Amino acid sequence: MELYALTADIWKMDGGVAFGVVPKSIWSRLHHADENNAIDITTRCLLVIDGDRKILIDTGLGDKRNEKYYAVRYRQPGVSLLNSLSKKGISAEDITDVLFTHLHDDHVGAATKLNDGGEVECVFSKAMYWVSASHWQWALHPNKRETAAYFADNLLPLLESGRLNLLEEGDQPFANIELRVYNGHTRGQLIPLIRSGKHTVVYMGDFIPTLTNIPIPYIPSVDIEPLVTIAEKEAFLNEAADNTYVLIFEHDAINECCYVTRTEKGVVAGPSFRLTDLESQNYGNTL
Ligand SMILES: [Zn+2]
Repeated sequence: MELYALTADIWKMDGGVAFGVVPKSIWSRLHHADENNAIDITTRCLLVIDGDRKILIDTGLGDKRNEKYYAVRYRQPGVSLLNSLSKKGISAEDITDVLFTHLHDDHVGAATKLNDGGEVECVFSKAMYWVSASHWQWALHPNKRETAAYFADNLLPLLESGRLNLLEEGDQPFANIELRVYNGHTRGQLIPLIRSGKHTVVYMGDFIPTLTNIPIPYIPSVDIEPLVTIAEKEAFLNEAADNTYVLIFEHDAINECCYVTRTEKGVVAGPSFRLTDLESQNYGNTL
């Protein structure tokens, strides 16, 4: 199995959105904010090559919206998922599967594009699409709090392709990837645990979006059920520490991966490292 981290977007997010009820006077000691109270954010997708399958996890924002939409997110021009894929020698047609953690625009937007005729079409023309059934229903009938994150032009082309697969909790369509369902950030988020050799690499999606979000109170203000997130984080982080999981962060602009460890103050992050340096990490190898 081969794993590649792919940058789809470089952008910014309001620090208050990212860290919820934690005061800026505290979180700003751990995470740099600019003069607009914004923190650097990335959308880091993951490519899993396993046998003859090339599985892409999440896609980033894409480019279907107007300039203002991306400007308020301070998105850098010239960065795209397809560019990052092509640097690995892989085209959109090579992707066999696209797994969506969930369907907020920064996770699904780049799966579709506007063609020369101004119509929306799927980017990954041969891929099977995978999302949880509970989240699909949630996204089609959004609540007033999340409605700005869902777009019909992200969702309907996937359905109309005939290649959309809705997963019930417990369904496991991939040989070496365990899919978990978490509900605190949004209903039915899928978090994949990827078994790669001796490593278990967990793609964190919006469950724990950056390394700074590891301490229990650091829950993004956009989570729909923070108390559910707290219970999910506590259980997961203890499991991750006990089993030396590698956490890979979708949105952390600086820290790509880390292990976590139990301490008297709770579970804390170890030093961060690049996914490309995974095999040289002593932490996971010696336990
Ligand atoms: Zn989200």
